[in-house]
Amino acid sequence: MTKDIPFRTGGGYDVHAIAPGLPMWLGGVQIESPCGFVAHSDGDVAIHALCDAILGALALGDIGKHFPDTSEQWKGIDSKKLLSAVVALAAEKGWEVGNADITIALQRPKLAPYIPSMRGVLAATMGIDEDRVSVKATTTEHLGFTGRGEGCQVWANVLMVRA
Ligand code: MG
Repeated sequence: MTKDIPFRTGGGYDVHAIAPGLPMWLGGVQIESPCGFVAHSDGDVAIHALCDAILGALALGDIGKHFPDTSEQWKGIDSKKLLSAVVALAAEKGWEVGNADITIALQRPKLAPYIPSMRGVLAATMGIDEDRVSVKATTTEHLGFTGRGEGCQVWANVLMVRA
């Protein structure tokens, strides 16, 4: 038996394709854009990466295992509900989110004006203080599928601590 440690780190990564005429949800906030994310849920790729980071830290599988995209139950669902469910599952196992750091790669629109609200919404959804939630955004300098505006990529890292 390995010695119990009071911390766990986890990483998550997600990609969604971009298409015209769809809503764009990121970090629990709706972004003003003529394009949005192709998805079974509301397509909030930032929340999906964050959920995977939490699940990964606790070796509880991934978001696809807990909320299969073949299920009608999750069709069009507000991803904040998925995040609440993942945080509740972590709490059941005796863990809470220490901090989260999220990096969004999106060519357009510029996300800077939305970042304070994303941090607020994510922190409130996870039940932690806003200063424990970081959201960063970058373009990919027009390189690759992200740079061509075909998709959005998000990386999330979390530290989980014993509740
Ligand atoms: Mg996803």
